[in-house]
Amino acid sequence: MSAADAVTDALGQLHSRFAGVREGLPAAYIPQLARADPDAFGLALVSMDGHRYSTGDADVPFTLQSISKPFVYALALSVLGLDEVGRWVNAEPSGEAFNAISLEPATGRPDNAMVNAGAIVTTALIPGTPDEAAFERILRFLGRFAGRELDVDEEVYASEAATGDRNRALAYLIRSAGLLPFDPVAAVETYFRQCAVRATAVDLATMAATLAHGGVNPVTGETVVTAAVAAQVLAVMATCGMYNGSGDWLLRVGLPAKSGVSGGLIAAGPARFGLAAYSPPLDATGTSVRGYGALVALSQRFGLHLMNNP
Ligand code: GLN
Repeated sequence: MSAADAVTDALGQLHSRFAGVREGLPAAYIPQLARADPDAFGLALVSMDGHRYSTGDADVPFTLQSISKPFVYALALSVLGLDEVGRWVNAEPSGEAFNAISLEPATGRPDNAMVNAGAIVTTALIPGTPDEAAFERILRFLGRFAGRELDVDEEVYASEAATGDRNRALAYLIRSAGLLPFDPVAAVETYFRQCAVRATAVDLATMAATLAHGGVNPVTGETVVTAAVAAQVLAVMATCGMYNGSGDWLLRVGLPAKSGVSGGLIAAGPARFGLAAYSPPLDATGTSVRGYGALVALSQRFGLHLMNNP
């Protein structure tokens, strides 16, 4: 069997093994997400030579939700640099849920850019340009990671905007405690729109592969961010990307990763591959149940754990 056939075969086997899992439920606090098909399940892998492998529902579009966070963090780091971004958002694991009020009491600085509080600040740091509003800039940047233009699921956006008071409260709290002169209404609006950007598992695997490939999209060949920024983003994904499940994840899977409440999950093998899973039913940390199972199994079977010494 060729190496390519072996990858396709491994993804197919994982799909068959986890497709029948019935645990977890799609997120319901954003009403539109509760309508997702609980049986949808796709897996995708993109290699460093730009090969795309996939199985199941890997071409079904869904919203990025929190998977947007590492990429918007990458944009902030590219525009402002690590020191300036670090003044406003820390890089410490919070050990708390994604929507926790995880702010340093003295400064109002959020713990990290992967939890909602930190992501709202990261989004607020992105300046518009004379030609482009901040959100258009974010959308175009996300598209460069995916290798194609992405768009917004307006229904999911409207659904979150109608129910997102906790995120609004977080934004006001950050402004009240901190020094960041930002507009909470505009920041949360842009944050909701970036969460509602639509992509497929194949797109997401390409985005993860771009981080794994030192910031160069392996499919298009475009340099999206510097190798230094890609490494910084992967480091924060490794320590904070799975929220209060980050320690367990690094222990069992051993790869930088990010989950989202629509059921998307990405993981990156530096200099090796980008992986993505899509399956809406979630566990208590907001991680796709089938995605988690499939990635634990894949990591164990192929020895993908970064701390592994083969
Ligand atoms: N848009 C979602 C929220 O802010 C994203 C959360 C997530 O994917 N964990 O609640």
